[in-house]
Amino acid sequence: MPELPEVETTRRGLAPHVEGRQVTAVTLRRPDLRWPIPPELSALLPGQRIEAVRRRAKYLLFDTAAGSALLHLGMSGSLRVLPAETPVGTHDHVDLALEGGGRVLRFTDPRRFGSLLWQPPGTTHPLLRGLGPEPLPPGFDGPAFAGAASSGAVFGGDYLFARSRGRKVPVKAFLMDQRIVVGVGNIYAAEALFAAGISPLRAAGRVSRERYRLLADAVQAVLSHAIERGGTTLRDFISPDGAPGYFEQELSAYGRGGAPCPTCGRPLKQAWIGQRATVWCGHCQR
Ligand SMILES: [Zn+2]
Repeated sequence: MPELPEVETTRRGLAPHVEGRQVTAVTLRRPDLRWPIPPELSALLPGQRIEAVRRRAKYLLFDTAAGSALLHLGMSGSLRVLPAETPVGTHDHVDLALEGGGRVLRFTDPRRFGSLLWQPPGTTHPLLRGLGPEPLPPGFDGPAFAGAASSGAVFGGDYLFARSRGRKVPVKAFLMDQRIVVGVGNIYAAEALFAAGISPLRAAGRVSRERYRLLADAVQAVLSHAIERGGTTLRDFISPDGAPGYFEQELSAYGRGGAPCPTCGRPLKQAWIGQRATVWCGHCQR
């Protein structure tokens, strides 16, 4: 499943090919993905210029003067910029034809858990309301996302500390709560807690300010590292041969229950927090 680093890598891969280009036609090969595709996509998008490709949490926004197309990759979705004559496959559900060069932006999604929605100008789509701040620092890649955190909250150790006071939920569940911070999925929560030496089972309210600073730094480090790696391991976004793959990460904890801890060599523990498998070192993480 694409996590924040894959979505960000996708954004960076596509942006040079679509930003500044006009959408000349919209082809929908089915009326719905995870949800019905709103009529505005076909009615308003043709003739509009894509001013920017932004990311908010795991959504991509294609901004135009008429509004923004909002796309989620779901479990198996991918985007590529292809020659318009590239044969259409069974799972190629949407094409946006781009002016100049005879190319289309094509959305492929075998499992159809992805979504394509519409956000009118000056509004925030309901799915994007109430989200916590982005975990990557402002200016991480160009201008900070406008209105990224409607609350004005900025992600960091002191923010996590403040939000966690009195909370009894395990710190891992707290970190994965999109209302607290977006885009920290199971893999990256496990890796960041390992790097920060914090047990995922510890109550969120019982983690000190100092340790939340370590944790916030670790979240940024694991996500940034994954994005850097993604830039080199994701396949070409403008190649017709196959969809861009999701990248393998070098992981210390996630998926390694029972294997030796990379730091101390003791077997890593595994338990369930909510619906999520959780792996940690009982010696290095307290
Ligand atoms: Zn250990």
